[in-house]
Amino acid sequence: MYDCIIIGCGPSGMTCALYLKRAGKNALVLERSMPGGQMVITTNVENYPGIMHIDGASLATQMFEQITNLGVTVLFEDVTSCDLSGDTKIVKTDKNQYEGKTVYIATGATNRLLNVEGEKKFTSKGVSYCATCDGALYKNKNVAVVGGGNTSLEDCLYLSNVAKKIYLIHRRDEFRGDDILVQKIKKLEREGKIELVLNSQVVEILGDEKVKSIKVLNKITSQTKTIDVDALFVAIGRKPDTEMFEGVDVDESGYIKVDKEKNTNISGVFCGGDVSNTDLRQIVTACGDGARASISINSYLAKHNHS
Ligand code: NAP
Repeated sequence: MYDCIIIGCGPSGMTCALYLKRAGKNALVLERSMPGGQMVITTNVENYPGIMHIDGASLATQMFEQITNLGVTVLFEDVTSCDLSGDTKIVKTDKNQYEGKTVYIATGATNRLLNVEGEKKFTSKGVSYCATCDGALYKNKNVAVVGGGNTSLEDCLYLSNVAKKIYLIHRRDEFRGDDILVQKIKKLEREGKIELVLNSQVVEILGDEKVKSIKVLNKITSQTKTIDVDALFVAIGRKPDTEMFEGVDVDESGYIKVDKEKNTNISGVFCGGDVSNTDLRQIVTACGDGARASISINSYLAKHNHS
């Protein structure tokens, strides 16, 4: 019986494991692929305090070594289902079944892909899914953002302070994002900082070692044009990984609802990082959630005579 079963070995899961282990608790971390989550596909991390510059994979490796050196057990197994309703939480994987007094859900969210030619090849070489993480690399460069929701609009506003010019490509002529953001975008359009490319779809990403241009199809005219850019920021939504957590409350976008102490609606089940309904999804906030959850988990264990 583990004190806590942590599902997901990203920054949130690893921080929770670190804090629990240091508090003398017996935590198991389950991960379906490799440690690090979204960090692994981030080339440059320059907003993690104390570290001027590091690639995401190296930061993930350092976090992983930190917890395994402390003696945290990490198993690479795919969680298929859970029974979280009772005092003892049961977590089933493709290989085994585990029992825990508590569960911390830190499964993250997966970026929706455009699924066009060049996307995989240029990921981290100009194709990015996080403007706040990678935007600073494109100072005074021409970049494109694709999407029509709040994330794409906020990405454009953020990039307008960094990049030379931004092309916002959206598949319709109306934005899904909030009007207040749309008005700010339109102001920047009038100032020539942003060019709106509406009713249009990115059909190919071109380059050599890095992105050089994108091919865009106008769905009304059926004409294709090539736009020279150094980066394409894809902001077409994300999918939180929650399928295996029956009974856990989610919001209208599918993210797990948590309170400020990282409790879910189920007693003994905690959640944090990108899979939770947070308003900022960064490495540093994921770590913060993991640390906060560990405090709540410790209190829960003490209250339920588990400690
Ligand atoms: P979203 O609201 O789901 O918007 C995704 C956008 O991408 C939509 O405009 C959609 O077009 C477009 N899209 C989807 N699939 C596409 C594809 N294959 N090719 C081209 N375009 C595609 O996602 P989000 O912007 O990431 O926002 C997620 C949630 O977080 C929302 O509830 C949002 O309000 C919230 N959020 C809030 C804030 C804030 O309040 N400050 C900031 C960021 C996010 P269509 O419109 O045609 O479907």
